[in-house]
Amino acid sequence: RPAPCIRSVTGSAAAHSGAMVTSSSTLHRDIDEVLLTQEALAARVAQLGRQIAADYAGRRPLVVGTLKGAVVFMADLVRAMEPTPEGLQLEFVRASSYGAGTVSSGKVALSGTLAAADVEGRHVLLVEDIVDSGRTAVALLEHFKAMGAASVALVSLLSKPSRRTVPCEPDYLCFEVEDKFVVGYGLDFDEQYRSLPYVGVLRPECYSSVD
Ligand code: 5GP
Repeated sequence: RPAPCIRSVTGSAAAHSGAMVTSSSTLHRDIDEVLLTQEALAARVAQLGRQIAADYAGRRPLVVGTLKGAVVFMADLVRAMEPTPEGLQLEFVRASSYGAGTVSSGKVALSGTLAAADVEGRHVLLVEDIVDSGRTAVALLEHFKAMGAASVALVSLLSKPSRRTVPCEPDYLCFEVEDKFVVGYGLDFDEQYRSLPYVGVLRPECYSSVD
């Protein structure tokens, strides 16, 4: 199992909000506040990619992204990992714990195309968009362990530690965020906002009618 990421390099989102995307000309009307600018995301993802590549030197990790929220992060992360002779393999799983609202159903449904033979003996890097209660990540990590992975590690763009209901500490984390519903850089609400280049706080009036 690779060394966990050093907590001191994990950014706090509060330090990365910026003026560049908060001007009224560029900020989406449904976004209250930009927590992580495009520049802050790019810098931290590049740094984390290099760290993961160094930790996995000599191995060919099986990098498994959770659909759909982790896709944008994963695309940037794997390109930030230095190319090695071993390379890496990309796969995806779907994990659903949220419907159209912002409140978890408490259940995690997993689906995907990975067979036990694809996972057995592999070093799995699970890539998540956000660890909230921790239930999705824990369910997936257990799933890959049960399939015979040689090691499993959790990489997450965001974490809301104040919301945990099950113990779950990402091995590699870009940013901790407070308990606010965030969208952008792959994260959605009701299939909207995934393509925003920053991570922002969604205006409560945009989801209060759905919950
Ligand atoms: P958990 O199982 O850790 O409670 O939830 C993980 C999933 O919940 C994430 O992969 C994500 O889909 C969703 N989620 C939790 N918090 C947020 C949030 O602030 N914004 C968005 N867009 N999704 C969230």
